[in-house]
Amino acid sequence: MTKMNTLMAMLLTIGIMTAICACGQPNNTSLKANVVTASSAVFKTEKEWKSLLTSEQYSVLREKNTEAPFTGKLLYNKSKGVYKCAGCGTALFTDEMKFDSHCGWPSFDREIAGGKIKTIQDDSYGMHRTEIVCATCGGHLGHLFDDGPTKTGMRYCVNSASLNFEKAEAPQPKQQKANLISDRDTITLGGGCYWCVEAVYERLNGVISVESGFSGGQAISPSYRQVCMGNTGHAEVVQIVYDNKKTNLDEILKVFFTVHDPTTLNSQGADEGEQYRSVIFYRNKSQYNTAKSIIDALNKNKVYPNPVVTAVESFKAFYKAEEEHQNYYDQNKSKPYCKMVIQPKIEKFEKLFKDRIRKVN
Ligand SMILES: [Zn+2]
Repeated sequence: MTKMNTLMAMLLTIGIMTAICACGQPNNTSLKANVVTASSAVFKTEKEWKSLLTSEQYSVLREKNTEAPFTGKLLYNKSKGVYKCAGCGTALFTDEMKFDSHCGWPSFDREIAGGKIKTIQDDSYGMHRTEIVCATCGGHLGHLFDDGPTKTGMRYCVNSASLNFEKAEAPQPKQQKANLISDRDTITLGGGCYWCVEAVYERLNGVISVESGFSGGQAISPSYRQVCMGNTGHAEVVQIVYDNKKTNLDEILKVFFTVHDPTTLNSQGADEGEQYRSVIFYRNKSQYNTAKSIIDALNKNKVYPNPVVTAVESFKAFYKAEEEHQNYYDQNKSKPYCKMVIQPKIEKFEKLFKDRIRKVN
């Protein structure tokens, strides 16, 4: 006998010894099912059940037999998913309710709410036990004991044969989808006048789209005029959609810190007011961490003579500005503001990020 066989034999012996005191009753003792009543929502004749169930399932569910301890297919199952009645498919337990009771049968400390399991006083074999059956089809599941080790104090001792396990959908397809989506990311940045910031990002390789608008305030769909008044709470921002395969947030923020002054509170050059504040609106923890670590590094290395005051705020909403504010620089290159304020920023960007410039026609 191999070591494994010896172990199995030991387990079986222990199991059979505990069988009576735990869930079991002597195996192969046929006790005709009286539970199958017309009141069960799913009612089938014995012939129908026989054709539907395996002989083991029939023996347990319909004849109330108990499978041998330590033999059930679900005893050691630790996968995430739902345990359903093998007779009718009603969901009875989840993986979160399962615990290792060492009694030889799958054990649960509670059931899925909703009265899906019925209890019946079972005085067979000289014992007073509480039998549990599927409320939908009347199928015998096992017994319920009040000696559970968890907070509920309960132990649903259930035959594997009474259950079908439905594994929770593997996260893989979702993951693949998430990966596809994560190739594209969005960040919303306030760096003073959005005309300037937008013009720069239009030129960065890997940027898919840039829109000028407003974020961080209370007003719904504000106009440029309202935001200029300075009491909407909004900042002028650009919303950048970028391709993670060609650029990343790290680079986008390096550009951001190059083309605006992050050390002046609520002002940017001649533009003054809360709407011109330096702010990064993050959408997830990763964006938050990236923003914080770059700001920390800038301060630690004293890149600017004064501390960085850029706010890192949770993204709530973005309101696109009026059409005439989109692509402002490219539409208005000859205007003095574009020449004097925006063009130098673009030149600075193009000098520092010369390898990263997208060809603009
Ligand atoms: Zn059932």
